[in-house]
Amino acid sequence: MVTKQLPLRKCVACNNMFEKDKLFRLVKINEMVCLDKTYKAQGRGAYVCKNKACLDIALKKKSFNRSFRQAVPTEVIDNLYMELENDR
Ligand SMILES: [Zn+2]
Repeated sequence: MVTKQLPLRKCVACNNMFEKDKLFRLVKINEMVCLDKTYKAQGRGAYVCKNKACLDIALKKKSFNRSFRQAVPTEVIDNLYMELENDR
């Protein structure tokens, strides 16, 4: 039997695997890190759960900075929190 499954991606905060639509994707394009709402942008990506707990951990541990080898702009992080609010 074939089970159809969405691709799983790992959250940088809790290190668990989730279907990608449960996660935010950040992508580094031309040395800029931004939110990739399409999940399709070319470039190095990192994922975090769409919940405040994981965002907080990712911020605190600077998990994105490690993934991208550079600091993620505050606006980008703020934007993620705003997206969370909108999802509600
Ligand atoms: Zn998580």
